[in-house]
Amino acid sequence: MKLSLVVPCFNEEGNIAPFYKAVADTFNGHDFDYEIVFVNDGSTDGTLQVLKKLVTGPIAIKIISFSRNFGKEAAMLAGLENAGGEYVTIIDADLQQHPSVVLDMIEKLDVNPDIDCVAAYQDERSEDKKMSFFKEGFYKIVNLITDTEFVSGASDFRTFRRPMVDSITGMKEYFRFSKGLFSWVGYNTEYIPYTVSERASGESKWSFAKLFKYALDGIEAFTIRPLRIPLWLGILFIVFSLPLFIIALATDRSVTPGAVFFVGGTILACMGILGEYLAKTYMQGKNRPVYIIKENISNR
Ligand code: UDP
Ligand code: MG
Repeated sequence: MKLSLVVPCFNEEGNIAPFYKAVADTFNGHDFDYEIVFVNDGSTDGTLQVLKKLVTGPIAIKIISFSRNFGKEAAMLAGLENAGGEYVTIIDADLQQHPSVVLDMIEKLDVNPDIDCVAAYQDERSEDKKMSFFKEGFYKIVNLITDTEFVSGASDFRTFRRPMVDSITGMKEYFRFSKGLFSWVGYNTEYIPYTVSERASGESKWSFAKLFKYALDGIEAFTIRPLRIPLWLGILFIVFSLPLFIIALATDRSVTPGAVFFVGGTILACMGILGEYLAKTYMQGKNRPVYIIKENISNR
């Protein structure tokens, strides 16, 4: 099998049939074997029913259906773990990423054995100003405080060679942040620009709050430097408080309430940082699966 397309689907009933057709039209006439691995991430609409209808079609299909919604990260992992292709592409179901770009990715991998992954990045951000400001800011911060490179605008839309897929699925962490994992495993990635199309139907599942949480998870997964903030703040406070302490003793003046609030707030914030990491360790320690498969269907 030359290629597997991994497609995470959450409430995409209106997009599955157009996506399938776009894939069939794109790869028609190219004589290589390929399969589509649809991951139904606990959709509550008719996504699974629409997917099941595709089983009788001409294209090799696997449907992995989760017991509930586990999130796109979990869906991507399940797809990668169940993909049999020599090349594996992650692509959204909503046709924002057109299958024709996959042909360019394959060609690059075919002609250059040194490249292990071809990733698409948006040549211009399609979202509103607030969202792109937030995303740009996130990439700046994350690149500053982690040692892993995060490429701004790069998406999960990419094609990997088999060894890289195996390296990614070999990482069993519970809190997954794929853009970081893709970079952390190393290998050579080539970035190609692509223009994001409008969503074919339905709505984006990302709210600002969801993205913010995801961004925090991403930072925490790739650096422990925030844990040093309490240490440095503590040292700073001790150094500054010494002369103040001496002055207070000498002049018999008490500490102002403002200072108490300031120090109290700082301690609470630092405990919050500790708590974030402690919670991640706790969750990882439980060793729960990243996803649960309820149904596994295939037509080959
Ligand atoms: N998705 C998923 N699980 C989720 C949220 C999204 O599998 O919990 C899928 C979704 O069906 C789509 C892809 O991930 O195929 C990208 O989602 P979306 O289009 O909402 O994100 P955006 O394109 O706005 O970044
Ligand atoms: Mg989308």
